[in-house]
Parts: sequence; structure tokens; C-alpha cells
Amino acid sequence: MTDLLEVAGLHKSFGANHVLRGIDLTVPAGSVTVLVGPSGSGKTTVLRSLNALEIADQGTVRIGDVSVDFGTKPDRRALRTLRAQSGMVFQSHNLFPHLSVLRNVMEGPLVVQKRPAAEVRAEALTLLERVGLADKAEQYPYQLSGGQQQRVGIARALAIKPRLMLFDEPTSALDPELVGEVLAVMKDLAAEGWTMVVVTHEMRFARRVADQVLFMDGGVVVEHGTPAQVLDQPEQERTQRFLHRLN
Ligand code: ADP
Repeated sequence: MTDLLEVAGLHKSFGANHVLRGIDLTVPAGSVTVLVGPSGSGKTTVLRSLNALEIADQGTVRIGDVSVDFGTKPDRRALRTLRAQSGMVFQSHNLFPHLSVLRNVMEGPLVVQKRPAAEVRAEALTLLERVGLADKAEQYPYQLSGGQQQRVGIARALAIKPRLMLFDEPTSALDPELVGEVLAVMKDLAAEGWTMVVVTHEMRFARRVADQVLFMDGGVVVEHGTPAQVLDQPEQERTQRFLHRLN
């Protein structure tokens, strides 16, 4: 399988805080990678760097045929192109409160990609159907549960037709009874062959859906492998300690 995503030597500091210390990772097309690790280990910063929401100091990110070398201070155009390759789902949905659910999903393709409204609308309705929310199209975010809002967030990220889907702790702000419906949509996307990188503490999801698990600590990937290797038989002491604390 070819790698859709390739990250090499990624470094990022916030002031004196050297947060990413040389991240290398590859993600085969059509596979699911789950990033786990203690809070503050740099997982979110990795994800945001892939989407150019954070601008790394060093290293390269390649998604498909789009490659950015952060060491050479890429221009806005290069960053915009990189950003267009991935759809991001955040911890809290970030929906526009003044727009209907349908308009929220239409916003990216309509305003950023400037595609024809009729086509965008039809696609947005199909996406809402796919996340089980066709009947909520004309409602506003505040009328939806947290789980429904997150599903709209997923539809919105899909609407720009990304090659890669990024999920940053998509269920950690939800009440426990709403977690399942969001994970179910993610599982469906994985089964459809979407390439996904997911930061999550949902170990059951990681076990069932991930092809690859990366354990991060202190801004490096400490170990990676299949869920069984990393979660059940970790080689590194840092991974063992982290997993022990979760149980
Ligand atoms: P994780 O997702 O593993 O919890 P993060 O990537 O969110 O880790 O954070 C890693 C470190 O980077 C933390 O020390 C955090 O405080 C710091 N950090 C993250 N984003 C910023 C930012 N925008 N400005 C300053 N420091 C940040």
C-alpha cells in the first residue's frame, strides 16, 4: 500500500517549550492511525501541523502529491494547499452558531472553495444523511445534542473532499452516553476506506479500528505498531507506565 501521509523530522517550539522533537510517521492510504500518549506530549500539535494550523519550525509533511518543507518557510499558498488536503474534527465542534446545520456543512465548499451552491447543497444533504442527521438540516447547532453537533462537524470536514481526515479528541468533551454515536460514524468512515489520523483516549476504538497505534511522550514517538503490539505488549517502559495508569 502506498503511504498517503508522510511526516519527517517535524519540530515545533512554542517559545522556549520544544514541543515536537523530531516526529516521523507514515500513514498508508486507507488506514487508520491512532495517536495516544499523556496530556502535553504533543499529539494535538502534530495533528494541527498536518493541517497547517500550527506552522512547524522544521521538517516535512507530504499528503499525496502535496509536500511542504517547513524548514524553508513555506508561503501562504503552499500552506493553503496543504490545508485543503485534510479535514479536521476538533474536540468541540466549532460550528457557526448563526448558521443552520446545512449551511454549516456548505460553508467550506461554498465560501472557501467557491463551488456552485446547488451542487454543494446536494452534497451537504448527502453528507448529513451519512452521519444520520438529514432531518436536522434546517435546525441550528444549539438545537442539537453534543453528539449530533460532533457528527455535523464530521460532515463539515468531509464536505471539502479531503484526502485525509484528522480527529482531535472528537469525543472527549461529550457526555459518556453520546460518545458511541460519534465513534460509530468514525468507524463507518474507516470501513469505507477513509485515511484517518485520530487523537483519542478511547482505547476500545483504537483496538477495534486502528491499523496502527503511535505512542507519543515528550514530543517524540516512543513506539508504534499494531494495536495489539502497542496496547497489549508495549516494549517501552514509558508506554507500559502510561497504559497502566489508564487501567
Ligand atoms: P497533547 O495533545 O498531547 O495534550 P499538545 O500538543 O496539546 O499535547 O501540547 C503540547 C505542549 O505544547 C503543551 O506543553 C502545551 O502547553 C503546548 N502548547 C500547545 N499549543 C500551544 C500554543 N498555541 N501556544 C503555546 N503552547 C502551546
